Amino acid sequence: MRSPFAYSNTSPEGFRAVAPADPVRVRSETIMPNTVLIGAQWGDEGKGKIIDVLTAQADMVVRYQGGSNAGHTVVVAGRKFVLHLVPSGILHPGKTCVIGNGVVVDPLALIAEIRMLEQEGVTVRGRLTVSDRAHLVLRYHNALDTADEAARGDSKRIGTTGRGIGPAYRDKVCRCGLRMGDLLERDFPERLAANVVDANRALTALGAVPLDAAGLQKTYAEAAQVLAPYIADTIEIVHAADRAGSSILFEGAQGTMLDVDFGTYPFVTSSSPTSGGACIGTGIAPNRIQRVVGVIKCYTTRVGEGPFPTELTDALGEDLRQRGGEFGATTGRPRRCGWFDAVVGRYAQMVNGVDLWAFTKLDVLDTLPVIRICTAYELDGRNITTMPASLAAFQRCRPVYEEMPGWLQATSRITRYEDLPLQARAYIERLVQLIGGKLGVLSVGPGRETTLRLGL
Ligand code: GDP
Repeated sequence: MRSPFAYSNTSPEGFRAVAPADPVRVRSETIMPNTVLIGAQWGDEGKGKIIDVLTAQADMVVRYQGGSNAGHTVVVAGRKFVLHLVPSGILHPGKTCVIGNGVVVDPLALIAEIRMLEQEGVTVRGRLTVSDRAHLVLRYHNALDTADEAARGDSKRIGTTGRGIGPAYRDKVCRCGLRMGDLLERDFPERLAANVVDANRALTALGAVPLDAAGLQKTYAEAAQVLAPYIADTIEIVHAADRAGSSILFEGAQGTMLDVDFGTYPFVTSSSPTSGGACIGTGIAPNRIQRVVGVIKCYTTRVGEGPFPTELTDALGEDLRQRGGEFGATTGRPRRCGWFDAVVGRYAQMVNGVDLWAFTKLDVLDTLPVIRICTAYELDGRNITTMPASLAAFQRCRPVYEEMPGWLQATSRITRYEDLPLQARAYIERLVQLIGGKLGVLSVGPGRETTLRLGL
């Protein structure tokens, strides 16, 4: 049997499923292994573009965590689509898309996205399913998100997107959340009204305006009608696709350092963007995942608050922001920029089990004469290469840098890895050496043609 990490994408037919011989799964040489794609830093690594590349080889694309706080921008035939909930696989004819149980879904945002896609001529019905177990983000979650953030004040702000994601996950864990499947039940209006009473108590205490339960009942009754055809038991759907030999791509949103367990808590998101989250967020078993692809920027960025050891607060940081277009796809917020942090990269490799790396945005460094890499942190007089759990300790970490010469040449037009300037190759190879795993893709520009593929 072939190695799960070797496959080709030369078939003009794409990747057809081959009926597997049970119980041992046999895949054709041209079939992509079931793959989880994760972001290795604080999000915004350029996952959208790599997902687009991998989607071409997948039969099914599944989201497993987060909500409409994620934002992928995909340009197809000159048309720009910004998708927050629906996997961008929807833009590839013939692919099926799933929003898994680990995602929190704002039904109104989902309807808006479905309508936008249909207006653009994209068929969604019959190609998209949403888990009946996915928790709902309801208007009171948005209101609580904004009110909570305001109440935290400047020093304790988390920097949330205000889309109600945190409060929706909080309700899920507190066992008072409402799920997609509940939308279709007769007692939904009653349960909604009871939750609105609780939410209004909290909103009033925070000095925010309470919500009208009757208005919300009407809004969500209409939403339920629109969404009913999309709601399904996606655990069965994903497993059926796997049994039929389909190639499944599980796409993570945000990034490893924003993971509620592994990230820089409490400046994190409320879900698990790491590769393990794919199991929890879809019901796929760990041994049905055959490959992990990590997307990582050739430098580091972060949106919102929280420690960031390699941050550049000077003109160089501003230069990276401008050259890299580092402004949030969902909120437009400027991203904080800094040098590549190999401590973060190594940690991400370890907790996700990254087999192949997709390095992005090499071109943004084209004009720098000297490039720094953080290889360790100095913490209280000692050098460490591990990630401290304590926020206070992480805040005290000072980056230990090594320097490499820049290449001072444009790389965006280069189409083969071998043609890159020697210094650029040396830089990438040093990063891979420091963090572990293998290089699969190097991206040198925003367009599809600027993707140098090695093992991916
Ligand atoms: P995501 O959330 O991880 O998908 O990342 P974003 O969509 O927020 O950021 C990706 C942005 O960077 C998009 O505008 C991409 O077009 C752009 N991008 C991706 N790869 C590259 C690259 O290699 N070079 C440059 N210059 N831009 C890139």
